[in-house]
Amino acid sequence: MAKIRNICKYFAMIVGVVILVCIIRTFVLVNITKKKLPKCAKNETLGYFKLNDVIWERFKDTLRMRTVTHEMSEIQQMLNYVIEVHPKIFKSKHVQYEIVNGYSLLIHVQGRDKTLLPYLLASHLDVVPVVEDEWHADPFDATENKDGTIVYARGAIDDKGSLISKLAALEFLLHRGILPKRSFYLGFGHDEEVLGPDGAPHIAKRLIEKDVNKLHFVLDEGMVVMKDVIPGSNKELAVIGVTERGFINLNISVEIHGGHSSIPHRETAVGVLGNAVSRLQYNQMPGRIDSIVAEFLDSLAPELSFPLNVFACNLWLFNPLWWRLFSLDNKLQGVVRTTTAVTIMRAGEKFNVIPSTAWAVVNQRTHHMDTVTQVMKHNKNVINDDRVQINITRRQPPHPISPFDRSTSLPYQVISDTIDQIFDEVVIVPATLVANTDTRCYLNFTKNIYRFNPISLTIEDIATIHAMDERISKKNFERMINFFYHLMWNADRIQPRDLTSNKQEL
Ligand SMILES: [Zn+2]
Repeated sequence: MAKIRNICKYFAMIVGVVILVCIIRTFVLVNITKKKLPKCAKNETLGYFKLNDVIWERFKDTLRMRTVTHEMSEIQQMLNYVIEVHPKIFKSKHVQYEIVNGYSLLIHVQGRDKTLLPYLLASHLDVVPVVEDEWHADPFDATENKDGTIVYARGAIDDKGSLISKLAALEFLLHRGILPKRSFYLGFGHDEEVLGPDGAPHIAKRLIEKDVNKLHFVLDEGMVVMKDVIPGSNKELAVIGVTERGFINLNISVEIHGGHSSIPHRETAVGVLGNAVSRLQYNQMPGRIDSIVAEFLDSLAPELSFPLNVFACNLWLFNPLWWRLFSLDNKLQGVVRTTTAVTIMRAGEKFNVIPSTAWAVVNQRTHHMDTVTQVMKHNKNVINDDRVQINITRRQPPHPISPFDRSTSLPYQVISDTIDQIFDEVVIVPATLVANTDTRCYLNFTKNIYRFNPISLTIEDIATIHAMDERISKKNFERMINFFYHLMWNADRIQPRDLTSNKQEL
């Protein structure tokens, strides 16, 4: 009995120590404060761009162009228009530009210091198609809401808002007569929406032909500033994509005896394929918390309420809890594991004939911690049926992780500092982008590749991307211009700004 009492005593002591460590870590981590740059609106040295009707109408004009991928005449029209309405840029002696592969655009802004590595800001001219009946307004008419503060149109967010705001920022910079020290490029591809071979791949090729083999960093479209994400906090989350998932397309097929449906075999191609597909869906790859999610939770911890903040500050103990939480959420599971989705199934022609073949297409979005071999081994083990043929038809590896330590990575710091200047009280976090962008074409130019749109969106706004009623507010558009304008200044820095003065170490 005394022995049991002793065991209980020791167990209680261990639990007590663990709780104490958790509480101390939570207290210290949530109280770390970092130095921020002052807000831009109050920073008169740089100036703040105030949106006017001319720029807004220009933007709306581009939204009226139906630049759906492969609609070459519309893309051509947008290119011509963009060049025509920005004479300050395209006639400047500091700017060179060229049309790449017929429809993409590469702009070079020559900085004052040629020894500094240039950077690239990327966007795309094309948009995805629309289902017009679903929209409440014509998707290519740039319809405004009643008080004229929001415009509805395909491409408003993805990606004309970003493209036109970069040009407006550059125009403002040139208008103020100040040239940055560091050179930079604007690269606008024309077939991003189909991950096509004709736009960004040719821009990358052209850069190499111009002897630009290295870039300081690349910033492309991607994640956004999100509202209503943190329970119990008004703060927004500025999410910077530091990597991108890869993908594997599989063709899964079964070929066995068919026949007349009146005398069926016990097993048919359709049944075997159905089982295989079902097993894949219900046995997803295991999840885990990687360094990106760990940093995400670390940055988020001060904003979380009890006990979530304790869980976030003590991943050494609560790691399994977090990956389970992420895995259970459809939208979040992609950041902790490779996901599997069946997208096409085909079999049979006639109601009374059992088909001898059946096939399906499976799309797996691969997490950077999983290799193709590991994923295929998992698929084979899960299906566990030699009659099922599994073939890879197309694949793209996940992107490497770009540095996201704000005190040592200069490009990450430059982007984060600019976010702090433009947005009120946001929490900046790294994350894995679950979609794909043109950044795949620039992986050999730099390890610093970031995917971020400086735009503040609600969950409902985000749902309009590639869907109905895509829209952007004037406030967001103005903020995007200011973000890129300030970024063009901040990118001149050659060393990370010191952030350590009031940071405590744990
Ligand atoms: Zn896009």
